[in-house]
Amino acid sequence: MCEFCSEHGDGKVWFKNAANYSKDLVSDLARREYINNFFTTTMEQGAVTIGRLETLYGKKNRLPDRIVQPMIAKAKEEHFGQVVTIEDIRELVGKAATVVRLPCACRWVSQRTENRCCYSVSYSPDAWYKDLDMGYFGLAQDQGLESLTPDQAIKQMEKLEQDGAVHTIWTMLTPFIGAICNCQPTDCLGLRTMAIDVETMFRGEKQAVVNEEECIGCGSCEDACHFGAISSISVSGEDKAHIHGSACFGCGLCRTVCPSDALSMVTRS
Ligand code: SF4
Ligand code: SF4
Ligand code: SF4
Repeated sequence: MCEFCSEHGDGKVWFKNAANYSKDLVSDLARREYINNFFTTTMEQGAVTIGRLETLYGKKNRLPDRIVQPMIAKAKEEHFGQVVTIEDIRELVGKAATVVRLPCACRWVSQRTENRCCYSVSYSPDAWYKDLDMGYFGLAQDQGLESLTPDQAIKQMEKLEQDGAVHTIWTMLTPFIGAICNCQPTDCLGLRTMAIDVETMFRGEKQAVVNEEECIGCGSCEDACHFGAISSISVSGEDKAHIHGSACFGCGLCRTVCPSDALSMVTRS
């Protein structure tokens, strides 16, 4: 169990605690202001900072602790993420009262391309996300926020997973959970920070394990894993997948592509 579960989980995994989606949290004035300005401040400033840090990391292959530690501490207070599985998505989205899909802010901030793979939910009829400014994407509010049923949203996210997306959730002033996302590591600002050793998100609660008896050594899982967490080993002269647990982000993409049902997701040890 992570520090967020201890602080914000109320005995559960923190992102399954309904209180972390509640309208009580959104009634907080500081949070409302944060949400109002989210794209123009958090996203725009974050993209500039990450670009600079990637350049520095490229030269030194590491970043100084005096930069990294305050960034992580700020992220934990404001906008922190975690990888979740498709089972978690079905549970979180399936019981939402309202669901919207909106453009991906990471892709917009870095490429000015509209790619709708970001979702927000509310567990009461109050739609807090109306405070998110769709004018940032050059859209009217009702064009930016597209209402869906929970089933529609889940089906879309299942398809996004088949296309290689990693599901993540994000706070907007922790512990309020504002975004349920579907990310590609090269596009997602959060996953980009992980690549330069700035931990602005937790890996998933789960990790992949392989059943060697079922594995036919096809290599599809190794190709699908964005995080280099799978290699091939020889077992009694046959190729088998091998999961490096500490590198596994717990996304479940390997399981999705496995033709032999040889992979499963278990609670991280
Ligand atoms: S976290 Fe993922 S889906 Fe959300 S805005 Fe960033 S890349 Fe897009
Ligand atoms: S090993 Fe599987 S679950 Fe772990 S990061 Fe790679 S694709 Fe995701
Ligand atoms: S995709 Fe499945 S069968 Fe293929 S190597 Fe990976 S675990 Fe083995």
